[in-house]
Order: sequence, then C-alpha cells, then structure tokens
Amino acid sequence: MLKLSKCLQLGLWCSLKTVNGTARGRTPEALHSRWFSSHGEGSDGSSNQQLTLSDIAKGLTERRYRKVVVMVGAGISTPSGIPDFRSPGSGLYDNLQQYNLPYAEAIFEINFFHQNPVPFFALARELYPGNYRPNITHYFVRLLHRKGQLLRMYTQNIDGLERQAGIPPEKLVEAHGTFSTATCTVCLRKYDGEELRSDVMSGTVPHCPTCKGVVKPDIVFFGEELPRHFLKYLTDFPLADLLIVMGTSLEVEPFASLAGAVCRSVPRLLINRDPVGPFTWSRRAQDVTQLGDVVGGMKTLVDALGWKDELDALMEADAEKVNDSPTE
Ligand SMILES: [Zn+2]
Repeated sequence: MLKLSKCLQLGLWCSLKTVNGTARGRTPEALHSRWFSSHGEGSDGSSNQQLTLSDIAKGLTERRYRKVVVMVGAGISTPSGIPDFRSPGSGLYDNLQQYNLPYAEAIFEINFFHQNPVPFFALARELYPGNYRPNITHYFVRLLHRKGQLLRMYTQNIDGLERQAGIPPEKLVEAHGTFSTATCTVCLRKYDGEELRSDVMSGTVPHCPTCKGVVKPDIVFFGEELPRHFLKYLTDFPLADLLIVMGTSLEVEPFASLAGAVCRSVPRLLINRDPVGPFTWSRRAQDVTQLGDVVGGMKTLVDALGWKDELDALMEADAEKVNDSPTE
C-alpha cells in the first residue's frame, strides 16, 4: 500500500531501487521513463509539434479531450486566502509555533498526535469546511465536470474547497485526506465531519462517545496509508487524454510522480508560478506551461476557451446560495 512520503522524489527512487535492483547510476529521467513504461509511455505516440495554450483550449471546446485528469496543490488554495503551510515564513506552520511543536511537520505525525492532538486541532479549526470560499480554479474543474469532460481531480489539499465548489466526491481523489469524515483512533468508529464541528470550532479535542478515544479527521499523516481511492490512478492516468496540473510544487510523493504517468502522446498543461517536476527534467513536446500567478493563468485559459460567462454564472449562483443560507 502506498504511504505518504515527505521526501523529494525519494518515494520514486526507493520504489525503483526495490523493483529494479540495478537502478544506481541512472538519471531520474531514465528511471522515470522505465518506471512508467508499463503505464503507456515508451510506445511513443508522441509528436514533435509544440502545442500552445490555444491548442489545448481548442481541443477542449471541440471535445477532443473528454477524459481530463486534473492535479492540484496548495497553489490553488492560496488565492482563497488559505495560508500555504509548506512555505516557511508565510504559512500556517509559523502561526502554530505557539504550540511548541518540536518541529513544524510534527503536526502531521501520528505519534506526536497521539501524545498531543491540540496543535492539529488548532489547524483543523482554521481549515474546517466553511471558513474559506473556492475560487475560479475550483469552479473551472466543476465546469469541466458539468461538460462531461472531467475524468478525475487529484488534490493534495485538505481544505475541502473542491467539494465546496460542487465537484462530486466520486470525481475527487483527496490524496491527503479530508475533514469531511473522521475516525475514532481507538474503536475505529466512523463519523461525519459535521458531527465534530462544534468541538473543533470551540477548540475542544473531540472524543468518541462510545469509547472516549480521540476522534481524528481522516487527514493522511506522514507514514499513514493513502486513501484506497488513490489507487484509481492506476486506471485513470493511462485513460487520460489531457492532464492539467495547477498550483503544486510536485514535491510530495507519491503524488509527485503521477504527472509522468499519462501516455507520452497526451498533452500536459501546467498552470503554476514556476516550472516544476517533469515539466523541468522530463519535458515533452506536448507539454504546455502557463507560468506566473495561478488565477491569472486560469483566466487566460478560460478566455481562450470562451467559457467566462458560463463560469461567472456558476460562481455567482453559488455565492448567492452561501449568502442565502442561515449563519451558524
Ligand atoms: Zn471510539
């Protein structure tokens, strides 16, 4: 079973060393193409023609891309106001120093959680569904789904903004878990995230009424197994006809390696502040990069698609719903 690893590319390197035995001395690119040859690369349906953002937009409007896989990370949540807790100096980690964590990432370590769950629940209070609103990047994916062109969205984010934007749970793989469900750490009884809301919001550690154990939201901690749902990547990525990667540094394995798991002939669009992962060290002719501000990049794509009015209407309708709902 796949486990969450915080080391740069190490998950892939470790797997390769185990599988091939003779991996030492090979370049990451060589290793990468060998590793993913079973997922469709290598047969080489690629062309040398360099694609552009307009080509991608045209392919989407002409419905040539109907099995789009989207991968996202923290960079699509920061425009909603969520601090990036992986960036030292600007993120939630710094705000959590008042809890005297031995080191920042201890907040996602299960042994530390068992000793002291308070800092994690301070983070949970901040990120619990309802505090922030999804933005154009989330609604773009919902629109893609509405048009019947979304195969699956893979997110590293734990803020639940994808669900909030109306992307159905079955179209989502929340690779690092979710606050929408929770599990008792002792008797394993399942809870709905809403059952914990009042405790989380009042700063109380939630306990299981049955056994008094601490109830932990289903967020994946370091060293914990990824959700079973994550294994959908085995069928999703070889099926994809377009990959869109947004707002991620592609640093956390095994999520990071997925960008190389689509067939070589499949276009990959990166909308991100910087070039990352295989878009730097294993670039393909079919790759398109829209670098800079993620929201700006998304707006450029939406304009090229001619989907602006439709997307605005979708976002406005949701904003009205939120304004009409009774405050808690
Ligand atoms: Zn229990």
